[in-house]
Amino acid sequence: MMKKKISKMVLSCMAVAIMVPFLAGGTSVQAQELNVSVQPRAALCDDCGVGQMKTTYGEWSEWSTVGEIDCTHYPYGTDLIKERTRLITSICNYCGAGLQSIGKQQKSECHGYH
Ligand SMILES: [Zn+2]
Ligand SMILES: [Zn+2]
Repeated sequence: MMKKKISKMVLSCMAVAIMVPFLAGGTSVQAQELNVSVQPRAALCDDCGVGQMKTTYGEWSEWSTVGEIDCTHYPYGTDLIKERTRLITSICNYCGAGLQSIGKQQKSECHGYH
């Protein structure tokens, strides 16, 4: 008799991250900050529940090209999708627990023409 074994798969929806659909609809220099998971306000520390998280922002990286799409402005040419990142660090001022996340910005750079 055949026995079918179905192993449960853990669905990880997390991995999709980088291909955030780019919202065109502004000027080509408009940048949009994505994935900022740290609240601007001082949040209480998850570890000790006493201290407050102090957030510091690293330097932005250089813009790098992460994609190329048909130009949305002109009949010919392309728009380059540029992205840059920076490190966001939060450290508890009481127990010193820290967490880091990545802040991201994207913009499109128009290389289209008539
Ligand atoms: Zn703490
Ligand atoms: Zn364009």
